[in-house]
Amino acid sequence: MLIAHIALPVPLYQLYDYRLTQPAEVGMRVKVPFGKRDAIGVIVSIDQQTDVPIECLKDISEIIDNEPLFTPAVWQLLKWAVSYYHFPIGEVIFHAMPVLLRQGKQASKTEIKQWQLTELGKNCDLKSLSRSYKQQLLLTSLKNNTFSENDFSANIFHQLEKKQLIKQVSVTPDTVEWQSHFSTNPTSIRLNEEQTKAIASVNQQNQQFNVFLLEGITGSGKTEVYLNILSDILSAGKQALILVPEIGLTPQTIKRFKQRFNAPIDILHSGLTDKQRFEVWLRSRSGENAIVVGTRSALFTPFKHLGMIIIDEEHDNSYKQQEGWRYHARDLAIIRAKIENIPIILGSATPSLETLNNAQNQKYQLLQLTQRAGDASLAQQSILDIRGLVLCAGLSQPLIDQIKKHLSNNNQVMLFLNRRGFSPSIICHDCGWIAECPRCDMPYTYHQKQHKLICHYCDTPRALPHQCPKCGSTHLIPIGFGTEQLEKQLEILFPNIKISRIDRDTVSKKGALDNYLKEIQQGGAHILVGTQILAKGHHFPDVTLVGIVDVDGALFSSDFRATERFAQIYTQVSGRAGREAKTGEVILQTYHPDHPLLNVLLSKGYQEFAKFTLQERRQTHLPPFSYQVMIRAADRNNHHAPNFLQQIHDWLKSLDNHRLWQLGPMPSNHPKKAGYYRWQLLLQHTHRQQLQQILDQLIISIDKWGETSKVRWSIDVDPIDN
Ligand code: ADP
Ligand code: ZN
Ligand code: ZN
Repeated sequence: MLIAHIALPVPLYQLYDYRLTQPAEVGMRVKVPFGKRDAIGVIVSIDQQTDVPIECLKDISEIIDNEPLFTPAVWQLLKWAVSYYHFPIGEVIFHAMPVLLRQGKQASKTEIKQWQLTELGKNCDLKSLSRSYKQQLLLTSLKNNTFSENDFSANIFHQLEKKQLIKQVSVTPDTVEWQSHFSTNPTSIRLNEEQTKAIASVNQQNQQFNVFLLEGITGSGKTEVYLNILSDILSAGKQALILVPEIGLTPQTIKRFKQRFNAPIDILHSGLTDKQRFEVWLRSRSGENAIVVGTRSALFTPFKHLGMIIIDEEHDNSYKQQEGWRYHARDLAIIRAKIENIPIILGSATPSLETLNNAQNQKYQLLQLTQRAGDASLAQQSILDIRGLVLCAGLSQPLIDQIKKHLSNNNQVMLFLNRRGFSPSIICHDCGWIAECPRCDMPYTYHQKQHKLICHYCDTPRALPHQCPKCGSTHLIPIGFGTEQLEKQLEILFPNIKISRIDRDTVSKKGALDNYLKEIQQGGAHILVGTQILAKGHHFPDVTLVGIVDVDGALFSSDFRATERFAQIYTQVSGRAGREAKTGEVILQTYHPDHPLLNVLLSKGYQEFAKFTLQERRQTHLPPFSYQVMIRAADRNNHHAPNFLQQIHDWLKSLDNHRLWQLGPMPSNHPKKAGYYRWQLLLQHTHRQQLQQILDQLIISIDKWGETSKVRWSIDVDPIDN
């Protein structure tokens, strides 16, 4: 008797066994009885073994697919991911499927209804229809293949159908082939030497597996390099996958792809309906698109003939999923490229330290673009010591003077502040009470325009209180400042200047960002205020001054990655200034003008900063020179979670592995969120393999403990927030 071992979308590590009575293959979806209902699952393996007593085994009720759902490469990738991330297999496999497939929809194109001539219709003498010109026209157009359904009213179809001259049939749309008429549109751009060299290095490797790091300062022409390399890949009839941090932020880049290639390009963005996502999935699997551009989860798209993967802005943290299955799309993309035996390019102006380390170790091939393309030159950078200065919504007088100067030359100014809202807290002036979210124990952020307090941890809004609940005072005042307040202050200081605030609050509406960008691109004096959204991907050729309003938080964080993140954002933001013919200026306000990090970064640039910081990480045995795993647990009573982690801690300790180092259990960075108390236990090891083996054993062990139902726990391999 054959037993199918099936993954179901449940947060448990096990597979479920069912009797297989019909022919089926690994990777196909099935319907099975599960509890009181039918569930959809995926066959992971088939053999004759089971631990379930035969009489308890149930039959699979239905085999949904007639071939495995994923391509062999994606299937292999998912299995690799399950073992590496130690995450329940059902959740991993279902995460990789479009919603409609999770619900059981057939993985084939939807049939469409089409009108055809009947035998009678084919042989019909048109003259016999001379009394109806329209009917005649319809029949002729069907005969000549010039038919378009919209040209005729339903009645005409009906009349002809009644005469049995035409009939409606269901057909599966043809697979559309693009390769035979593919072409690359010519461009007037003449590549510079570094670009030419980078392209040649990739092309030399004959489209085999290789990881390239394209490290190029902002505006150095990375996209141009991608376009050139892709041209060869597409000419060979292969498809390409391009991952970007956020689609909404890259309309200009996508336009360039569409202009350059005469080939179908699909975009996977959050605005698509489930049906549209599913259709992109199908087109990719059948080879009907040439390029798919998407965010993190686009990584799991199956391709008929994938030829290359590009990860743009590879350092961006949005590639790491931060809830549920916490995979890193960049890391998995490299595994996928290896499985598919194709090249992968990681591009960034500010590569992550992990990636730079791999390039230094020659695991990745380093390609560098050190010059700005065209005529653009790099911005002038300076530190503005604000100790003792009066600040107005964060702005010092010297910065205000500089803003005036740049605006009066009809240029644009960009002010960066990584904190949205009006102020990060509201306090009672009489007794010191602070408005806090009861579910997270963190101060509410005040949003003046919406007239609301919003918790930035759990997103819960509440009305602004009129009175202090503690002392009854009505004297409630905002403390600190965010982008909303900065914008307001600028409106007072510069009443005749256009100001655009670009943060999650203002661009969440569809098309809003596009409108801002259009306005900004029209040129003329203009102030842009924004959070790190500003740092991502846009070219603002008329911005000549970038002001960094407040950075000090990043310099003194308990998270060892905070400085890396700051250096990346700083470099990206300042790279937005003075493109094309205009030279830019960057001014950074700080209370710590002598901070060594700031000085390395400003005087020597990101590369030197990275070298310096990698050296530091090596000395302190931090990643990438060691490997980390975060075990998180949460509960509602602040009791079970720490106990559970303590139990893990003790168990790990009993292994007596002196290369394993544990920190915790301790409360997480945000110890309470949405009513849950959150704890963590950090593991660090000098050997990745060994740490992986320890996790394997740990999970088997935890499984036997029972009692885990009172905590929500998860494993985060290679965590990025400590
Ligand atoms: P990046 O992706 O590194 O930010 P882009 O590829 O977007 O850089 O290039 C920045 C700008 O310079 C674009 O407007 C692009 O068309 C232009 N550009 C790129 N390469 C060249 C070149 N060799 N000569 C002139 N302009 C170029
Ligand atoms: Zn009070
Ligand atoms: Zn909250």
